[in-house]
This record gives sequence, structure tokens and C-alpha cells, in this order.
Amino acid sequence: MDYEKIFAEAIDAIRDEGRYRVFADISRERGNFPRALRHDAGDNAKSITVWCSNDYLGMGQHPKVIGAMHQALDETGAGAGGTRNIGGNNHYHVLLEQELADLHGKEAALLFTSGYISNEATLSTVAQLLPGCVVFSDELNHASMIQGIRNSGARKFIFRHNDLDHLEQLLEQADPDAPKIIAFESVYSMDGDIAPIKEICDLADKYGAMTYLDEVHAVGMYGHQGGGVAERDGLADRITIIEGTLGKAFGVMGGYIASSKALVDVVRSYASGFIFTTALSPVLAAGVLASVRHLRSSNEERIAHQARAEKLKSRMKMAELPVMDSVSHIVPLFIGDPVLCKQVSDILLNEYGIYVQPINYPTVPKGTERLRFTPGPLHDDSAMDSLILALTEVWSRLNLVRSVA
Ligand SMILES: *Cc1c(COP(=O)(O)O)cnc(C)c1O
Repeated sequence: MDYEKIFAEAIDAIRDEGRYRVFADISRERGNFPRALRHDAGDNAKSITVWCSNDYLGMGQHPKVIGAMHQALDETGAGAGGTRNIGGNNHYHVLLEQELADLHGKEAALLFTSGYISNEATLSTVAQLLPGCVVFSDELNHASMIQGIRNSGARKFIFRHNDLDHLEQLLEQADPDAPKIIAFESVYSMDGDIAPIKEICDLADKYGAMTYLDEVHAVGMYGHQGGGVAERDGLADRITIIEGTLGKAFGVMGGYIASSKALVDVVRSYASGFIFTTALSPVLAAGVLASVRHLRSSNEERIAHQARAEKLKSRMKMAELPVMDSVSHIVPLFIGDPVLCKQVSDILLNEYGIYVQPINYPTVPKGTERLRFTPGPLHDDSAMDSLILALTEVWSRLNLVRSVA
């Protein structure tokens, strides 16, 4: 058996479609975000501007976060030293879980090593534990939710993206006595649209379903304390389980759920992806704690963030660039072809020092390939001037589409 050949052919198939992924080798420069050094640019590292970071608010370089991490490192050492259950439960974990529960107005919260694991572990455990459980999942849900639902072995119905009529049709057809979970996101990270959370909660009430809301692209950024879109819209108490990441707007790493005491206890007690893994480093937990506390009491970053996103969208429209409809901080620019998408991204990086990753299938459906910009409070007017100029030149040079298909 020629194993290597099988692997090489699998990679070739991805290359042939023009969607082979290449990492950019960069060093982010603390104090100088969104600037970074690019190492794979030939002999000398080159300075670039990062336009696709999920460290939306620049909290990864915030003095309070850095300070808290230095202090924790000096106090407790580098790692947790064990699973939460066996020697690894550090006081920072306990404080952070209390803070996160409080942020969302829930009884309890539980930390995981990433947002991916929190989705996978929670959905697989809860849906498996409820006998005959049926899961209703938005068609654009993140891979980690899909994997969790799949691993639960529960019956699953996929509803069309944000389509309440379709969701209700599916709920109607299900056994009225079966336990049900509706799983969805608030801000969808590739299109920048937002789910009709209130209406989904109304349907959940009508059909006796639990609600599972992924607020990964909203926590820290929406709501008066950064509790997400559910906080902003006064709906957090209607969501059974809120899930978030600590690696995007909070700027560090890790994931969590916030819910009732009993639900959190059941996931803590049954979920393999929680139990059998080393706890998050207390250094990370301390950094996140500082970040969450800061963003709960400061609206400055959130206001600047939304203003920068609006500005970029309007500048792209003025330049007749095909910016896709987005009601959030996400700014997607339509290209519609994987090879062109990669080519545009390469030209921007190599010739203009502008780093924006191409977004291709399977992250988005084929034919909707795009560049996804995430402007933040630290992208100033001159960075935007350079970006618009570069995009205008590249759009003309490659004769790219001017409107969204
Ligand atoms: C990034 C992401 C996750 C995973 O979070 P990580 O902390 O990066 O593992 C989960 N859900 C959505 C919608 C995401 O975009």
C-alpha cells in the first residue's frame, strides 16, 4: 500500500480546485497592531498590515491583559499541571467562570480549551444525554457545532439559514414529546448577518425546545457589557446555553458555555472533551479575566469598532467595490471564484503589504468566494486609504466583478 501517494493525491485534489491553504508566517508586533512582520517574504521580514484578524478589538496587546498574564506567570508558573479534575483546577479558572456566568446573567459557566471544543463537547454531550433528542441546526452553523451534533448520534434537521418558516415546518413535523435543541449563531462570521434571535426563542417556547446560541463573533463586541447580541437585545435569559470564545474579541485563547447550574454540571461531569484534557493555562485564564473585566466596563472599544466597520463599508461602496450586505462588524468583499480569490490575496500581500486571507470552500459555499475584512479600532484612516487604493488598482487590473452575484 502506497500511503504517501494517497495523501499526495488528496492534496492535489484541493490544489486543482485552487483552494490549497497556505499559512502566512507573521509576527504580530505588540504595541503596533494591526502591523505585523511577514517572514515568508524573501530574505528580509517585511512590515504588513493585518486586515483579517479575529482579535477584533486589539485586546491581545492591551496593557491590562499583558500585565495580568505577566503577573500570573510569575505567580503560578506556565501551565495548569493537570485536568480540571486532577490537580489542574487553578483559582483563575474559578474566577473566570464566575465572571463569564455573570457576564451572561447565567447561574454557571464552564471553560474549555477552545471555542471549537466547547461547541463539540457540549452539543455532543447534551444531545446524547436527552433520550430521543432531535437537533435543529442552521445550515450555516460552524463546523464545531456540526461535529458536536454528529457525534451525539441524535437526529438532526437542517433549516435554511435564518429561515423561521422552514424552522417551524421542521419543528411541527417532529414528535411533540421529543426533547429538542435549536442550535444557531448570533453573528455569522462569513456574511456578517445576524440571526432573528427573538423569533427563534418564540418558536423554541412554542415547541418546547432548548436554545443553543454560538456568540463567538459577538462576545466582547455587542451588548452594554460585551455579553453579545443576546445581551444587546435583552434576550440572554431566553437562551438555554450561550457559547463563546476567549480567542477572538477577548484576545487570548479558550472557549466556554454559560447556562444553568444543572446543565453546566452535566457537561462538566459527562463531556469527554472537557474531562480528559489539561486545563487551560492559568496564565491564559488570568489574561482573559482582565480582558472580560475591562470590556464589561468600557464601551470605547465597541463604539470605535462599529464606527471603523461602517467607515470601511461606505468607502468600499464609494469605490464601487462589491462589498456584501452585512449588519455587523464583518466586511466581506465578493469575488466568486477560488483561483481569483487566492490571486487577489497574493497580490495584496506581495505588492501592497496588505494581508487578507482568501475565504474559499468549505468555509463558504462554492461560487461565493470572498475576501473577509475585519477592521478594528486600530485600523486608522491612512491604513484605509492604502487599502482602498490597492483594492481599486487590483480590481481594475484583474477586471473583477463590481457587484455581488
Ligand atoms: C472561531 C469559531 C469557533 C471556534 O472558536 P475557537 O475558540 O477559535 O476554537 C466557534 N464558532 C464559530 C462561529 C467560530 O467562528
